[in-house]
Amino acid sequence: MSDSSQAPSLYSAREPIFPRRVSGKFRTLKWGIMAVTLGIYYLLPWIRWDRGPELPDQAVLLDLAGRRFYFFWIEIWPHEFYFVAGLLVMAGLGLFLFTSALGRVWCGYACPQTVWTDLFILVERWIEGDRNARLRLHRQKKWDLRKVRLRITKWISWLLIGLATGGAWVFYFADAPTLLQGLMTGTAHPAAYITLAILTFTTFFFGGIAREQICIYACPWPRIQAAMMDEDTLTVGYRDWRGEPRGKHRKAAEAETHGDCIDCMACVNVCPMGIDIREGQQMECITCALCIDACDDIMDKIGKPRGLIDYMALSDEAGERAGKPPRPVWTHVLRPRTIFYTLLWGGVGLGLVFALFIRADINMTVAPVRNPTYVTLSDGTIRNTYDVRLLNKHGEERLFALSVVGDPALQVALEGEAEATVTVPADSTILQRLYITAPADSVPAQAQNSALRIWVQDTRSGERAYRDTTFNGRGN
Ligand code: SF4
Ligand code: SF4
Repeated sequence: MSDSSQAPSLYSAREPIFPRRVSGKFRTLKWGIMAVTLGIYYLLPWIRWDRGPELPDQAVLLDLAGRRFYFFWIEIWPHEFYFVAGLLVMAGLGLFLFTSALGRVWCGYACPQTVWTDLFILVERWIEGDRNARLRLHRQKKWDLRKVRLRITKWISWLLIGLATGGAWVFYFADAPTLLQGLMTGTAHPAAYITLAILTFTTFFFGGIAREQICIYACPWPRIQAAMMDEDTLTVGYRDWRGEPRGKHRKAAEAETHGDCIDCMACVNVCPMGIDIREGQQMECITCALCIDACDDIMDKIGKPRGLIDYMALSDEAGERAGKPPRPVWTHVLRPRTIFYTLLWGGVGLGLVFALFIRADINMTVAPVRNPTYVTLSDGTIRNTYDVRLLNKHGEERLFALSVVGDPALQVALEGEAEATVTVPADSTILQRLYITAPADSVPAQAQNSALRIWVQDTRSGERAYRDTTFNGRGN
């Protein structure tokens, strides 16, 4: 007799998944995306870019100490963080766009969790063999020499991938060749070793051990994606009206009474999430389309048309059940919602490009000193003081000339300088005190206040920038 007072367990132990090797157009596409994304990630910090004598010649660099971000010819300073915010907005809109058109295509093809898990499974397959061999090894209770050898080889390989992943990450924050040398000789900053250790371990754990559990339990995206999908979204599904009733087709007569699905389980065996797409749409499905490749292969072998499992939209289902062909793909992709997302995405992108081209190469702020608002010198001259902050974004020292435009009586002088010029070292900001004077009998000296414009000019390149401010007089 069972104990009815015992509550059913809410915990179910994880069933390890050993996806079978598959080939087909979607698998090829996924290999291509993996090669490109991993290639970019690992190699980007090693691309050199001439930045002058004072800065590391690295094309992509997050210089936390200098509080700057270098991306090839683009240099983002802290006050230009809106560029980073804009890029994040574009990434979000891009995700909305792709999800509304093609479901969880990001999860299935380009998410780092998917890409690294795919890589770890590939290495596992090279070392331990395809699905059946891995299953046998997993079920083998005895840790004989072969099992120990295979497991240690696999774990060391995974750790090396983790190490390369963590290594590539830290190279984005410092000059890569210098940091590599430091890491090898034990002279790098402790933060580099700690980051390296954390990323090595997390890559090993996320890609090798946890795998699909991260997508199912840790990632919020499967839960919010539904808000971006509608009945026109293309997603991976099973044409049950064509496949059912499923059966093995052992006899010729069964081909008449059965659907096209021969219940071979190929679609289930290749699934990295361990689900059966024939049960319908499931939260676990990352739309990686590997089950499409597996089923298409089976359909080719049994002489049935491909597409029993396919990218399809809910809105086509009723028509297809009635025998109509599915609508062309472009009608699902080009919809008001996707067009709206595209326009929004393009608008933000154009705005960023425009902002990039019109941004000043010289950065200057002017803060009038208001305590006191003016001073009267012994000869009656009225003097105003301003704090001018000059930013040199170039990799070499620059000489700037300061001048004032307003009433001709206004004169400019710099504290501690004989001439109105100031040298700003490479990639630095300096604070310069500036005096503007007006003779006692001049209009600005007698007025309450007068408008003026302070100009700064690069003496070599001629680049100029200005700030408007006011000059305070006696007011009589
Ligand atoms: S059901 Fe198909 S598309 Fe979904 S995760 Fe599994 S293999 Fe990928
Ligand atoms: S691969 Fe195709 S034929 Fe085989 S079980 Fe899956 S749906 Fe049926």
